[in-house]
Amino acid sequence: MSFDLAGFDGVAAAGVALVTCMDSRIDPLRMVGLRPGDAKIFRNPGGRVTPQALEALVLGVHLLNVRRILVVPHTRCAMASATEAEVRRRVGESAGVDASWQRFGVVPDQEDALHQDVAAVRTHPLIGDRATVGGFVYDVDTGLLRRVV
Ligand SMILES: [Zn+2]
Repeated sequence: MSFDLAGFDGVAAAGVALVTCMDSRIDPLRMVGLRPGDAKIFRNPGGRVTPQALEALVLGVHLLNVRRILVVPHTRCAMASATEAEVRRRVGESAGVDASWQRFGVVPDQEDALHQDVAAVRTHPLIGDRATVGGFVYDVDTGLLRRVV
């Protein structure tokens, strides 16, 4: 086995940070035409701008060369296709114990959530104008990005 990613310095060479979903149909770098070394990538269920995502983006902007931020949820996302109660019930059935206390951050309205998430980045006091921020939806069936905000 060869390892051809040695020697990178850890900054985002293309100045890009991505926030996207953990979905296995998404190859984040390929989705935006970048290569290893080019971008910071933060993933979670739904591709949401959570407090942890904001921590990563602040670090990216100030210490890791990030100048463009893309928030990219996707079509047919499980986190946008069920209710919180349904996800809790399914996890509870799998676990065999009560899961009603666990928060999953299900998204009732994906585009509304994307507007809110992009606004959260744009108005963050440590990010603001220091980066260009866009919100897109990735179509897992066509491989295309659609700009929303
Ligand atoms: Zn998803």
